[in-house]
This record gives sequence, C-alpha cells and structure tokens, in this order.
Amino acid sequence: MSATTNSEMSNAAEEQGKPAGNSRRVIERLGEIDFDPGALRAKYNEERDKRIRPDGNDQYIEVKGDFAHFVDDPYVEPGFDRAPLTDEIDIVVIGGGFAGLLAGARFREAGLDSFRIIEAGGDFGGTWYWNRYPGAQCDIESYCYLPLLEELNYIPKEKYSYAPEIFEHSKRIAREFRLYDDVCFQTKVTDLSWDEASARWIVSTDRSDRMRARFVVVGTGPMSMPKLPAIKGIDEFQGHTFHTSRWDYRYTGGDHNGKLDRLSDKRVAVIGTGATAIQSIPYLGAHAQHLYVFQRTPSSVDVRGNTPTDMEWAKSLKPGWQQERRKNFNEIVHGKPFEEDLVHDGWTDLYRILADMFREVGDPSLTAEEASQIGEIADFKKMNALRARVDQVVKDPATAEKLKAWYRQFCKRPTFNDEYLPTFNRPNVTLVDTSETAGVQQITRTGVIANGVEYPVDCIVFATGFEIGTSLMRRSGFEIKGMNGISLSDYWADGIKTFHGFWTHGFPNCLVMGPTQKGLSVNFTSILDDQAKHIAYLIKEVKARGRFGQPSLAAETEWVATIRRLVVDNSAFFDACTPSYYNNEGHMAERGGGLTSEAYGKGANAFNALLKQWRDEGALEGIEIY
Ligand code: NDP
Repeated sequence: MSATTNSEMSNAAEEQGKPAGNSRRVIERLGEIDFDPGALRAKYNEERDKRIRPDGNDQYIEVKGDFAHFVDDPYVEPGFDRAPLTDEIDIVVIGGGFAGLLAGARFREAGLDSFRIIEAGGDFGGTWYWNRYPGAQCDIESYCYLPLLEELNYIPKEKYSYAPEIFEHSKRIAREFRLYDDVCFQTKVTDLSWDEASARWIVSTDRSDRMRARFVVVGTGPMSMPKLPAIKGIDEFQGHTFHTSRWDYRYTGGDHNGKLDRLSDKRVAVIGTGATAIQSIPYLGAHAQHLYVFQRTPSSVDVRGNTPTDMEWAKSLKPGWQQERRKNFNEIVHGKPFEEDLVHDGWTDLYRILADMFREVGDPSLTAEEASQIGEIADFKKMNALRARVDQVVKDPATAEKLKAWYRQFCKRPTFNDEYLPTFNRPNVTLVDTSETAGVQQITRTGVIANGVEYPVDCIVFATGFEIGTSLMRRSGFEIKGMNGISLSDYWADGIKTFHGFWTHGFPNCLVMGPTQKGLSVNFTSILDDQAKHIAYLIKEVKARGRFGQPSLAAETEWVATIRRLVVDNSAFFDACTPSYYNNEGHMAERGGGLTSEAYGKGANAFNALLKQWRDEGALEGIEIY
C-alpha cells in the first residue's frame, strides 16, 4: 500500500489557472475537444481553495494518550506474556510486514540465518494484518504486487487480490522461508542504541527485552500509524468508534466478506472517502440501518473490472516473468515511453491515453510546455470520463454532483471500484458533503455535525488514513541513537541524510527500508523486494570485510545532493491540487515538498540499475569498514 505520483506526467510545468500560452496550437493539432480547459482549471482551483486549511497537517491528532485505544490490536487474545530476551543475534529486523518478510526471505537465500524479526502485531502481514476491513483489496495488480510468486510457485486467484489472500500469502512467505523460527510478535521496539564498546545495537522493547544485534534493519512501513482528525468534540462521543485499520467485527458482526449483521439496527457514520472508505462503504451501506458518509473530497473512482486468473495464461508464463512485469509497470507509471503495457489497467490507462495523444500529434519537436499541455488535456479527458461515470451510475443528480472529483487524477490516490457509486442509490445511505467547512464541524455526545446539522448516530467509523508526512521516529515509535549517542531525529533535524536511502553516517550497520531517498513505485512491494536483496548483499559484504560499516560523510553528502539534483519538481502540479498527503495538505513549501520530494527522481528501475552497477563493482564505494 503506497502511493506515488512521481511521474514525468505529473511533473507538468504548466501554470494551472492561467490560460496556457500555446494551448490553442496544441488543441488544434489534437483535433476537436469537447470541453473548455480554462473553465476546468478555474473549477479545479475553486474546489481546491475551499478545502485548504491553515492548520495543514496539524488538523490531525496523534493516536496516543486518551486515543491510544484506537490502535489496540483487536485480532489477538488479551493476556499474552513471555520472558524478556537479553541474548545476541546477528540481525534484528523491526517490522513483520512485507519489508520484514522480504528481508527475511532474502537473508535466508543469502545464507544469513541468524536473524530475528520483531513485530507489533500478532502475526506477519503488516498492512494486511491490520487492514481487515470488509472489502479490503489491493488495487495494484496481484501478479505484480504479491511478492515471490515464482519462488513460491503461487498464482493469485484474481487480477486484484482481496486482503485475506494477501494476508495468507504473507504467512506463506513466513512459513516457506522459516521466519516463524525466530520472531517476537506483540512486541514494540522502544529504543535502538548503538553500544560503542561492543559495536552492537541494543534493541529495547515494551516487553523489557534488551537484545544485542550486530545489524538492525528498520522496516516499519510508511503508513503504519493511523491518524484521527482533531474534530471539536471527538473525545465526547458516547457511542462506539473505531478506525478502519482496527475493524471491530465484534461490534459490526460479519467478516471481510460482509454480513455485518449487527449493524442492522445501527445508524453509522463514516468519516472519510479515501481508498479505504471506497472499499468498505459498500458493505456498511448494505448492512447499516442507516449510513451517513461524511465526505470532504471525493475520490476519483475508476472501473475495477476484477477477473479470475486465467490458469492457461499462468501456465504459459516464462521464468523471470514477475520481475519483467514489475519493471514494465514501474517504467510506465514513471511516465517513461513504452512499447508494451503488460498490466494494462487503470493505473497505466492515463499513460496509454497520453502515448496515443503524442502519436496523434506526431511531432518529435514538441516543447516541454506543449508536452505538459498534452498531459493536461489527457488528464482532463480521463477525469471527464470518470465524472461522466458518476452521472451514469448515481441516480440522484444532486448526490452525483457531490461525488465528482474536480482535480487532476494523480492529485490524490486514484481508486478503482464497481460497488462504491451504486451504494449511493440505496435509500438507507446519505452522502453528507463537508467541503464548505473543510471537514466535519463537530462531534457531539450523540452524533456528527456538518453544515450546521446534527446527524445522530450509534457508531463512527474513522476512515481517516495514516500519518505519512511525520518523522520516521514518530511513526515507528522509537528513537535511533547512533555513535556518540546522537539521535537520528537530531541528525536529520535539518533534512534527511542517507547513502542510497539505506544508511546514515554515524549509524553503523543500521539499514532502513522504505521509500525515502530511494527509487519509488506505486507498486510498493516491488521496491521492498529490490531493497531486501540489496540489504542482504550489504550485510554479507560488511560481515566478510570487518565488524561494522557506515557510509562516509562524503558519500552521504553526495547522495543527498543527487536526490536534490534529480528531484522531479512537481511543485506547480501539486500546488494546483486539492489538499491531501500527496501535497502536504496543500502546504508544499513548508516541508520542502510533497510526497515525492525525497524520492530518487529517475524512478525505481533506474535506481535498481544504479545499485546493481554499484554492487557489480564490488568495492563498496562510499562505505567505511571498521
Ligand atoms: P486517506 O488519507 O486517503 O483518506 C482519509 C480520508 O479522511 C479522506 O477522504 C479525508 O478527506 C478524510 N478526512 C480527514 N479529515 C476529515 C475531516 N475533518 N472531515 C471529513 N473528512 C476528513 O486514507 P485511506 O485509509 O483511505 O488511504 C490511505 C492510503 O492507504 C491510500 O492513499 C493508499 O495509499 C493506501 N490504500 C491502498 C489501498 C490499495 O488498494 N492498495 C486500499 C486502501 C488504502 P480529504 O481527502 O478531504 O483530506
């Protein structure tokens, strides 16, 4: 589960809201279009402006203190206990989601067998352990998303897998690579400190462990901390509440497939209409006595069109097919020219439209400005089609109007669903648009207030997403203290500093997985697998050459400069977008950019090629070994 908009398409340098200089010429060359680009730009700006809030990211509260129960694990039996561990292990991996699973799998392959995984949940799976809400599904094609398919000889049942299949696959990886042999579940790391004398990391946890490790791998995931909106009165509500990532089936009844029978006499509010809400609302609508959907910004909802896997096709796949498919997908969604679109779905659709338009224009001498105008027109066409889809499906015209997304497709996470829009034709479902007040106004003891109207409800479901823009340390819940006791928070106070995105000077043998300062792809598991292979190489090499390694200051400085030099400047694009975590809630400049400002600008495939070359040279260039 991740998001990227790091594409050359979204890097369009157009000045939104102003008539584009050569647009007439470009439009003429593209033939007739049946809309007014200027009017659409103006509408997009108007819709953005009413949602931008001065408090930006501060409109959300951290899930701790009085709100800590929102992150309790509803899937384990209470009362688990075990003796604290004080032993030594070669590698401690923090996080048992796909980062930790893939690290473990690749360590086994590399013969690195002394490792332990520490995981907060009661099993492996990470995102797919926590997100069990009804209808949860991965919107990236399963043949690309589910890792290690060839290694495990497994073919997903459908083109888009539902959560139970992905959770099961996580456990399959853990079984096959013997990751259950040494794992600490229901354990949260509280501190990581480098001990100079022994050149070991001391890993402290909330179960009083003080393990020693030569290497630590941090794979805590970019979206692991649920967030709540700081709506006035949120702590006063006397009814039931939960966050979608801790779905309370004891309250709703049913399971992932629905049958939420305990809601039949309940008035339910759901706050949020992002990717999670789009998938779960059809189930809430089907079972609640009445469902109120509180929407601030509509998602764009494209066709899902899920299909069972054609087993004949699966049998015809040649060795290496998954890597090839992933590479192809990464290349296309990075906005690179392509010959063939192997995945051919909603993600790649816009890029196909764009490629067709470029072919239509047929002029290799296009200026950057003209190319960006073509991108904008492709986007307008795509979004017009998605808005028309709302009109086709939703019977009440006023409700349909509110459900239309007025922004460019990659301003927000696009969604794909065939049951969401029809839900609004149900008599027991009410859409409450909160855009005029930039969100829900208040929560009372008995209900939710929007547009001055109180909606009495029995239950509030927060589909309000996860912390993304906050620091690694805040999201993961522990500090990392390196040489001389310096904390990573302090070392990064004026900006993130890494070498290849994995490690930082002064924090030896500490390797961080995730998107930061590395190649990024919307298919997040593919980049995690590439990272896992690289980390296995690094650990093996450091072990062969010395006690510990760290990047030199010079190598780190140069890598940060490389990230800055190559960063795709999409500030104009995102400034024109409706607020979301993609553009730091509409305050791009405040954090030095949006979601992609710390990504390697040439994309995941180029990043992998660069790392491969670095490995092939074999010199660990830029690494100091002690
Ligand atoms: P999001 O952050 O995408 O959505 C949060 C929702 O809460 C938004 O609709 C937001 O409105 C709304 N909201 C927040 N505060 C208020 C308020 N005060 N009043 C009213 N509404 C409010 O979270 P999700 O959990 O939906 O998705 C998070 C990410 O998880 C996705 O972007 C995606 O990357 C990933 N995901 C991936 C899936 C997959 O298939 N691979 C499936 C589900 C999630 P607004 O938009 O106006 O801010």
